[in-house]
Amino acid sequence: MAKHAYITLITNADYAGAAVALVRSLALTGTKADIVVMATGGVAAADLVPLSDLGAIIMPVDLLDTSPAFNERHARAKLHADAPFTKGNKPAFHTPLDNFAKLRLWQMEQYQSIVFLDADTIVVRNIDKLFAYPEFCAAPNVYESLADFHRLNSGVFTARPSQATFEAMMTRLDVPDVFWRRTDQTFLETFFPDWHGLPVTFNMLQYVWFNLPGLWDWKSVHVVHYQYEKPWQADHPRRTQLQPLIDLWQAYRTGDAIPDIDMLANPAPS
Ligand code: UDP
Ligand code: MN
Repeated sequence: MAKHAYITLITNADYAGAAVALVRSLALTGTKADIVVMATGGVAAADLVPLSDLGAIIMPVDLLDTSPAFNERHARAKLHADAPFTKGNKPAFHTPLDNFAKLRLWQMEQYQSIVFLDADTIVVRNIDKLFAYPEFCAAPNVYESLADFHRLNSGVFTARPSQATFEAMMTRLDVPDVFWRRTDQTFLETFFPDWHGLPVTFNMLQYVWFNLPGLWDWKSVHVVHYQYEKPWQADHPRRTQLQPLIDLWQAYRTGDAIPDIDMLANPAPS
């Protein structure tokens, strides 16, 4: 029997809370795959309990053992200064360096096929068919314009664990003077230059809701991804614009009144 796993990563209390919504959403799709949460020491034991209660397997992991020079180049303040975010805001609890720990999933050779999901996603329809897709599949980073199709978004992707791949990644990742401006995303795009494209419906970025409303169709959306501002942030400049998506996330977070996805209204066309 092929071993399949959905895997996410959490390194602090904020993303641990977010993963509750993700794990609940996955469980509700009826998947038989393992649901795995890679958690660093930055997550308190008490914050892991709701995740295991929902059936998740907790895998303790370390951040990558990158060099001090690499860590300085990718430190939050330096990265924000050298590669500013002009289209949206990153919350204060987002530490760019932590993103690279996603690469640890390639060490999980007990699984044959993996679907990685950012902790700020929810899965609103079953996506088990992705386990049969090859490495490396990801959706394009579409949330504003056609030019977005050139880049991938690393919030949802397919992978085949292999210690050999992990080691090959480590020799490419931390080389003198390298700067991965969008961290794991830029690295993965470089490591897998011939990445396979998933439909955007497998990684619908929340900004599509107001920037490209014609692309949003609940009938085909499988994964909603809350890039930039997070749905649990109180002081969220786009709260009003994104209220329907925030309400949906909150329903999965609490487990109360999760709506029938086929009954949801699409955004008004611009
Ligand atoms: N992450 C984390 N702690 C951090 C930063 C990132 O656990 O400090 C993990 C988490 O799974 C998160 C993912 O890495 O969803 C990528 O970060 P985020 O989703 O905030 O980036 P965005 O989607 O906004 O580009
Ligand atoms: Mn994300």
